[in-house]
Amino acid sequence: MALLIKDILYLPMTGSPELKRGSIRMEGQRIVAIGDHIIPAWGDEIISGHDKCALPGFVNCHCHAAMSMLRGYGEALPLREWLAKVQPAENALTAEDFFWGALLAQMEMLKAGITCYADMYFDESAAYWAMEESGIRAVLGEGLTDNIDGKGEIALKTTLQWIDNMKNDLEGKVTFALAPHAVYSCSGPYLKEVAAEARSRDLPLHLHIAETKREQENCLAATGKRVLPYLDHLGVLTGKVLAAHMIHLNEEEFEITRERDIRIAHCPQSNMKLASGIFPYPAYQKRGVVMGLATDGPASNNDLDMLEEMRTASLLQKVATGDPTLLNPYDALHMATAGAAAALFLDDQIGTLEVGKKADITILSLKRPHFYPRNEKNSLLSHLAFCAKSGDVHTVIVNGKVRVRDSQCVDIDEGRVYHEIQQHAEEFWRRQR
Ligand SMILES: [Zn+2]
Repeated sequence: MALLIKDILYLPMTGSPELKRGSIRMEGQRIVAIGDHIIPAWGDEIISGHDKCALPGFVNCHCHAAMSMLRGYGEALPLREWLAKVQPAENALTAEDFFWGALLAQMEMLKAGITCYADMYFDESAAYWAMEESGIRAVLGEGLTDNIDGKGEIALKTTLQWIDNMKNDLEGKVTFALAPHAVYSCSGPYLKEVAAEARSRDLPLHLHIAETKREQENCLAATGKRVLPYLDHLGVLTGKVLAAHMIHLNEEEFEITRERDIRIAHCPQSNMKLASGIFPYPAYQKRGVVMGLATDGPASNNDLDMLEEMRTASLLQKVATGDPTLLNPYDALHMATAGAAAALFLDDQIGTLEVGKKADITILSLKRPHFYPRNEKNSLLSHLAFCAKSGDVHTVIVNGKVRVRDSQCVDIDEGRVYHEIQQHAEEFWRRQR
C-alpha cells in the first residue's frame, strides 16, 4: 500500500526558495512521485494537504539525546565548569535511565518534526532500543574518551564489536559514527586510533571542535598547536568528519576546514547558553563549507527544537555582523534540512523532497495565527523560518511510515514515557544524595 499526501504546499529544498503545490506519493521507504498530476491509486492511504505545508524532515546533526535525564541541571555555567558538574551525574546514569532519556528525547524530536538526529552519548544501545520503539532515524556515535576515565580502549573495542555485529539496522534507519568527544578529553594516540577505525569502516568521525577560547588556549599550551592544526597534524581530518561548534578559528583554520571538507554542526542556542561564542558563519559560507543546524544536548539548550535553532541562528548572525541579509529564510531552512543531511554524509538519502529519496517528511498545520496573512510566493517562506513553532507539527513521516499523526506519536505510549522518566529521575536524584 502506498501513502499519498494529497494537494499540499511543499518546499522541496532542492535549490529554489519557491513553494510548490502538488501531491507526494510514497511506496515502501521512498518518495516515488511528487508534483501536480498524481492521481491516488486504489488502496492508497491519503493524508489531506489542506491548510498544511510539507518540508523535508528536520535533521538535528549534533545531539546527546539521553541527556534529557539531566535537563535543567547545571544552569548558568561556562563549558568547563558545566562539564565538571554534569559528568559525575552522567556516570551515575543506569541503562534504564539512558533508555528512557533517549526515548523521551526521540519523542520530543519527532513531535517537533525532527526525523533524523546524530547522537554522541554513552550506552548507545539504549538509544538503539528507543529507536526501535519511536521509529526515528539516527546516526549513533558512542561517546569515546580516554583522558577522563582511562577506559578508552575498552569503550572503543566494545563500540566496534557492537557496530560490526549489528544485525538489524531498523530498515536502514540506524547508521553509525565514531565519536571521540574532543581534544581535551581524548589523547592524541587515541584520536589517531579512533580516526583510523572510522576510516577503515567508512564511518563519520563525530567530535566537538573549537567550542571555546579556553579549548584553543589549553590545546596550544599542551601540544604547541591550536585545535584544528593539531588534529590535522595527527591525521584525524582525512576521512569523513562531522565537527560540532567550530567557533574559535582563524583564517588559516577556515582554509583547513574547506580543504578537508569538514562538515559542521552549528548549535546556536547551546553556544549562547554556555556563553561559548558566536559561530563565524560568513567565513564558512563564502568558502562553501557544508553546515547543518543542531540542538546539542537537552542539558545545554534545553529543548530539542530545530525551528527555534533556525530562528536563533539567523537572528544571531544578523546582530553579530550588522548584516541583516545573512541567513535568509531559505538558507536557515536549508541548514535545518538539506545542509544538516549533508553534514551527516546522508544527503544522497535524506534532506530534500525528491523522487528516490527516503520519505522523511514533516507536515506543518498552517491554520495558526502566526501564518496569516501569507502568500505562497514569498511571505510564507519567511513565516516558515521566523514564525513556525514545533507545536505546528501535525504529521511526521519517517522512512515512509507515519510516526506522528495529529501531533501525537503513533508508536510511543506518551503517557508511559512521562511516567517512567519521572520515576527514573526521582530515583536517580535520590541516589545522588
Ligand atoms: Zn555536544
